[in-house]
Parts: sequence; C-alpha cells; structure tokens
Amino acid sequence: MVRLSGPGALRIASGHFSGKRSPEETPTHRILHGRFHDGSGAPIDTVLLSVFRAPHSYTGEDVVEIASHGGAAVPAAIFEALVRAGARPARPGEFTERAFRNGKLDLAQAEAVAALVRARSDRAARAARATLGGALSRRIERLDGALVELLAEVEARIDFPSEAGERLDGAALAGRCGGIASEIGGWLAGLPGARRGEGGVSVVLAGPPNVGKSSLLNALVGYERAIVSDTPGTTRDTVEASIWLDGVELRMVDTAGLRWSDDPIERLGTERAALALSRSDLAVVVLDRSAPGASVEALAGALGESAPVLVAWNKADLARSRGVGGAGGVPRPEGWSGTALAGTRVLAEVETVAIEPSGADLLRDALREALPSVLSGHAGDEIPTASARQEALLAEAHAALVRAEAALRADESCDLIALDLTDARRALGEIVGRGVDQDVVAAIFARFCIGK
Ligand code: GDP
Repeated sequence: MVRLSGPGALRIASGHFSGKRSPEETPTHRILHGRFHDGSGAPIDTVLLSVFRAPHSYTGEDVVEIASHGGAAVPAAIFEALVRAGARPARPGEFTERAFRNGKLDLAQAEAVAALVRARSDRAARAARATLGGALSRRIERLDGALVELLAEVEARIDFPSEAGERLDGAALAGRCGGIASEIGGWLAGLPGARRGEGGVSVVLAGPPNVGKSSLLNALVGYERAIVSDTPGTTRDTVEASIWLDGVELRMVDTAGLRWSDDPIERLGTERAALALSRSDLAVVVLDRSAPGASVEALAGALGESAPVLVAWNKADLARSRGVGGAGGVPRPEGWSGTALAGTRVLAEVETVAIEPSGADLLRDALREALPSVLSGHAGDEIPTASARQEALLAEAHAALVRAEAALRADESCDLIALDLTDARRALGEIVGRGVDQDVVAAIFARFCIGK
C-alpha cells in the first residue's frame, strides 16, 4: 500500500486516478475503485483508493491510501508517479511524527507505534496497543494531577506565607509526596519483568560437536537453515532461525561445538558460542544419546547459572538400535556424570531424533512448557511497559520526589521543595511529549521504519 499525506495529497492522487469519482470530490472515509495511471494516462494497476480528509486521518492531514495488487513493480511504479507529480518520499516515522505534531497522538503513543511494529510476542504487542490506546498517558496524567495539587499547596505557602495558615503540614504533604514516589518506584521495579519476552525469547543450542545441534535446529524450524555435516566443527559461526510457540517468538541460535581447538576459525566460533550462551534466555544442551559419557564440563562452565536448561538427548534412534539406555522416562546413559550440569537449572530432559520428521516434537513441547518459567517475573498487563527514554524520565521523576519528600519531612525551604516537585512534573510531562527538545523528537522518529 502506498500512503500519501499532506495538503496536496488529494490533488496529486486525482491526477493519476480514473474512476467514477475523483478523490478531490470525495468526502472523507470513502473507498474508490478505479485505475491508477502514470502522468501520461498509461495504466499501472487497478486499485482501491481510500480518502481521509484532514483532520480525520492518522496524520491529521489529507491522506490517500492506494492499495494495488502488490509485489515489487506495481507499488514502485505508483510511488514513482506520485513523486514525479510533486510528492516526496517519507522519512522513517514521518507519518507518525506528523500525527504527533498535529496533536493526534502524544509522544508515548507515538513510541508505542514503533513498539507495536517491533513486537516479538503477543504480549508485547498487547502492551504496545494499550499504550497506543492511551493507558500509559492516562497514568502519567493522573500522577501529574496529584503532583499539581501538591505543588499548589507548597507554592501557596511561598506566595502568601501569612495566609497559608499556621504552618505547612509537612508530614501530611510528605506522605502524599511519598505515595506518588512509591507508585512510580513500583512501576520502575516492575519494568524488567514487564519487558521480559518483549523481544521474543532467545534460545541457544549448545553441546559438543557432531551431536546433532544443526539437525535439531532444522527439525524445529522445518527447513534447512543450518548446514549439517558429519565432520565435527562445521557450524563455525552462530546460525539463527525463529519459531513461534504460544504467541512468542523463539529466536533459536545454533552454536559451534563448545570445545577448544587449534583451528583459529573454529576457536572464534567457540567464543561466540560462549557469548551467545551468556546472553540467552534458555539453553538447549544437546547430547549424543548413543555415545554416553560425552564431556560437558566445559559446557557447564559456560552455562553457569544464567539461563535455564533443557537437555535434548539426540540420536535416540542410534541409542535404541545399540541398546543404550533403558525404558521409561529418559534414563541417563552410562557414563553420564550427574554433576556435569551441576549449578545449572535443568527444566527437563527429552529424547530426540533430529533426522526424523517428528523427532523434535518432544523438544518443541518442552520448549513450550518452559516458556512460562522463562517469562516468569512478568508482573502482568497492568504495568504499562516503557521505552528506555520513558524509563529514564520516570527515574528522574522518582528521584526528585524522593528529595522533595525528605525536604518536606525536614521542614526545609518551600522554594527548594517546589523546585523538586516542578522537576518531577517536567520529567513526567516529557514522557507524553510536553516540552521535549526537538532533537529528541527527531531522534525518536528516526528509529521508526519507513511507512509508519
Ligand atoms: P552438530 O555438529 O552438533 O551441529 O551436528 P549435525 O547436526 O551437523 O549432525 C552431525 C551428524 O549426525 C550428521 O551426519 C547428522 O545427520 C547426524 N544426526 C543428527 N541427528 C541425528 C539423529 O537423531 N540420529 C541419527 N542417526 N543421526 C543424526
């Protein structure tokens, strides 16, 4: 879809459209069916053209959206024709920036548009939608309202010291100030949990070379993402692919075998593997079921206590044909030292046969079951998530309120208390875009993708 916004949108679109009616003569919120042609009248495609008149549009300006048959060539030809007629390509985030400047969205809502596009889980998308709907802004306005009342009382004392009564009731005001501070403090404390899973969940496949890590990745993803070979040490770099389970994106990373090698390239891969492991949310340790006694000490060291672990005993088919292991559950093979993964949090052990069509099903189920544990600590949807910028501003507001509360209790000068309260209000206001520096606004929208 090609979107056109600005005072010339209807005129430019009308110059390229033939249908029953011209966009320029069409009321807002109507869809026209007709032919889109280049400036000379040569047809480009049959299109649906939606008309939104200012201020009843996303940007608040006249907007025309042209839905063509898609692909690459047709939208490009439409785009070129519009640019030749006087439109210019939009900058990343420019539509949302215009919506912000025209008062259709506040800054917190505008940031939520980018968060919604970036969301890597249903929950992250839900949180972004709530912010876009104004949940975060309403919370900020409520806190700000309480602050305004507090500030008014402190300032009355500065302006009319005699009329404000006997004494400023420092303890009562400090209590109210502390209440606002602790609500913001609680919000801040809940943010890491609320954010968990925002970018999806990263899962690292690790284990000795040649146990079937790449094969398992392919089995999970359902296509040949990783090169599989029977020469140990083939996967020299990390390979990534994604699967979606229960509305969460799992970014799977296949690592090179974790072992030392004299080959500098393989060694580089090993270091990357250790790095990937240290950053992952969940590790799948792949071991060869048919070759018990695999050394995983190095692996346990790399895993540390960071991420919870699933153990995939792969090549279960070979083990069975060789009579290794036993019936019932997943008995550890002979030679497997129970202490090898000591210190790590093993959530489950499953058997897999990476080279069979449904041989990774048990692992997929185990991953699904592990998700709640990986995402635990999430405080629920009642905590609006916040961008890094918003979090920093919340922290500033919190610090200013903590200072003001202490000053109120110590019966310090009202001028200083008023300064801190004003500072807290400034920080909260900037979250929704009040008084924000133009450079900051530009930087926020520069991170958007084109067309939003
Ligand atoms: P990686 O080095 O750990 O990534 O191991 P690969 O995925 O490259 O697999 C090494 C070899 O083991 C390949 O020849 C695979 O076909 C084979 N392989 C992997 N999984 C299984 C399995 O479950 N059963 C059997 N029999 N062979 C497997």
